[in-house]
Amino acid sequence: MAEGIEVDLQAATKRYGAKVALDEVDLHVLPGTLCVLLGPSGSGKTTLLRCLAGIERLSSGQLRLGGRLVADGASHEPPERRDLSMVFQDYALWPHLSAARNVAFALGRRRLARGDAAARAQQMLERVGLGHLAERYPNELSGGEQQRVALARALVAETGLLLFDEPLSNLDADLRERMRLEIATLTRASGATSVYITHDQAEAFALADTVGVLRDGRLVQLGPPEEIYLRPATPFVARFTGLAGEVPVRVAGTAGDDDLVPVDLVPVEPLAGGSTLLATAMSAPEPGTATLLVRPAGVQLLAAGHAERHLDGVVVDAAYRGRGYDHAVCIGSASLVGIHDQRRWARGDRVGVRLNPSSCLLFPPETPAAEPVLAPARA
Ligand code: ADP
Ligand code: MG
Repeated sequence: MAEGIEVDLQAATKRYGAKVALDEVDLHVLPGTLCVLLGPSGSGKTTLLRCLAGIERLSSGQLRLGGRLVADGASHEPPERRDLSMVFQDYALWPHLSAARNVAFALGRRRLARGDAAARAQQMLERVGLGHLAERYPNELSGGEQQRVALARALVAETGLLLFDEPLSNLDADLRERMRLEIATLTRASGATSVYITHDQAEAFALADTVGVLRDGRLVQLGPPEEIYLRPATPFVARFTGLAGEVPVRVAGTAGDDDLVPVDLVPVEPLAGGSTLLATAMSAPEPGTATLLVRPAGVQLLAAGHAERHLDGVVVDAAYRGRGYDHAVCIGSASLVGIHDQRRWARGDRVGVRLNPSSCLLFPPETPAAEPVLAPARA
């Protein structure tokens, strides 16, 4: 079993010429936990992972692994001295080695007797369900099987840190879910600390102990998945982690201790049934117009005219999802999508819409400067 090491990155910056790929990133990962870094393409995820691995040098800042300084703007320890293993999107197996020898290769520096290394490789291949394919070459294995070999290779050396760069992106949807589960259980059982990057929010939430959200090279939020979902730091984080839609509103009161604040729709219309719409203020709300960012989980469809509805809407789409249906509903000028219900509402149905306050995130009106970031802005 591996002993997970602590990852401590401080003010990490990486420049490629004039391009700032990482901008003063502070990231702390506790030993034995799994941190997922989530962000759109180009946000700096791979750069950050390669800096942790030692494949890239930091331009400035410090990286400590297990309390030991391994990189700063001046010094740089190479990857092989950092006690880590990596899993890549494209598997990166040696084409001329069998699955067993690919895995055993990771034990090369351990100075084990050859038979010992082979036995451990075989054991690890069995744990990822590939014991019977150990003698196959990568070109004789499916994508999912190749990624299992890569996972076995990363786990067999029992390093303190595992790094994953979008390992599921090349796999089919059904395989992705099974492989995600295997990564979640095997990495946790290994005791290692893991840093895992993805652009897929569902994957991030399903896997992570903590989620870090990257945007333009900056870490805009770091916290448990529940916190990212319920208290996103910025509208960007909220949008990137799944919204039903956005509704323009006007703040109609002050927030209580529970951060709930009454809002009116804009243009101002009396709410259906004379009800009051409550939103959760993400920061101290100012009077005036604002945007309500609505999470799909808190939207409920009711019969037209139902006393508990907040809004009246019309169903514009119903998509079968196996466990029920996802609906799209038009409410005035806005629309809400991804609204789950066990029953199928028909296109064109008039419905009542009820919004749970915890799923209505109230942000102040957006200006480019209004997006708070953890790193200080620089000229
Ligand atoms: P992600 O993995 O989130 O898609 P990357 O870390 O690959 O993002 O890239 C972040 C930014 O840095 C991008 O704008 C990318 O074009 C740039 N970048 C990455 N590697 C290099 C490089 N070797 N030279 C120049 N720019 C690079
Ligand atoms: Mg990448």
